[in-house]
Amino acid sequence: MKGSLRIARIAGIDVAVHYTWLFIFFLITWSLAAAYFPAEYPGWSTPVYWITSIVAALLLFVSVLLHELAHSLVAKSRGLPVKSITLFLLGGISNLESEPKEPGLEFIVAIAGPLSSLALAAIFWGVDSTGLTALSPVKATTDYLVTINVLLAAFNILPGFPLDGGRVLRSIIWGATGNLKQATNIASIVGQAFGWLMIALGVFWSLAGNLMNGIWLVLIGWFLNSAAESARRELELRSLWLNVRVASVMNDRPETIGSAAPVEKLVNEIYIKRGLRTAPVVDDGRLVGIVTLTDVRKIPQSAWDVTPVSQAMTRSPLYTVKPDDNMSLAVNLMAEHGVNQLPVVTEDRLVGLLCRADVIRYVQVHHELGRK
Ligand SMILES: [Zn+2]
Repeated sequence: MKGSLRIARIAGIDVAVHYTWLFIFFLITWSLAAAYFPAEYPGWSTPVYWITSIVAALLLFVSVLLHELAHSLVAKSRGLPVKSITLFLLGGISNLESEPKEPGLEFIVAIAGPLSSLALAAIFWGVDSTGLTALSPVKATTDYLVTINVLLAAFNILPGFPLDGGRVLRSIIWGATGNLKQATNIASIVGQAFGWLMIALGVFWSLAGNLMNGIWLVLIGWFLNSAAESARRELELRSLWLNVRVASVMNDRPETIGSAAPVEKLVNEIYIKRGLRTAPVVDDGRLVGIVTLTDVRKIPQSAWDVTPVSQAMTRSPLYTVKPDDNMSLAVNLMAEHGVNQLPVVTEDRLVGLLCRADVIRYVQVHHELGRK
């Protein structure tokens, strides 16, 4: 995620903190030191309030991290690769490299988070009741962490997508109907409904005089509402490509150039005459590279007539797709590597070229025809 700082690597998973989390960290520390602890535990000195608050906020951070690690470690143990964990504004996100492929897996990955928060609450509650905590700042901290972890579990288990509880709900519907799209739709509509409910309740609380908690609830409700909506949009976009093969979108007669041809010829006959910005480089039907306007710009203009295309082209990394590949794979490949075109090959023979413009045209035509 942009704007995040890597702080650790645990079991091969990068752990990063988004800058919004630092802001929340200070806000939590400040509200604990200035309001919550003085009201609940009067009589400490100011430094004790601050030190206790910093420790409590740090342990809150650890609690959120352990919740996310539970998701990630379960996912990893079931063969689902995990890229990273990012802690941000209202919690954390585990970046799985792909969505779980079957409902049973999604269920256990999702439920692992709230269960670990409940386990943490139980541990802090255990420490709390051992009598070791006669010193009141320690008791205050463990009390606070019991509450926080119960709240973390309770909020996350709400059955609205994309919360953990929403994923649990989705996996159950998905398992029962075998239809991922329908399951996501239902779970995210429930998520949006919970979002609206929280906003309404927050407004009501604010009007009833509980301003601070009311505002928090409105913020969280708004966040949940928009997250649910964007999760549904994303899946809609993915389902647009569900049964579309690269072959039906690509240009199957792309202009090509041989690797021995001079750059001058490439510029005149392909870039200028045809108005293109890219050409696959093909020798005897085999794809050997790709050459773009940017590549050519690196060659001095005076040398264009004596420099072969092979000296300007990119040989690797050369991202290609097959005609039978699904379009979502091609679109992801373009986005991930920031390329505007993908040569389409069958056993290194060029059979077409897929450009970003082809993708956009396909989406537009289907949109205008109202086809799904
Ligand atoms: Zn979670």
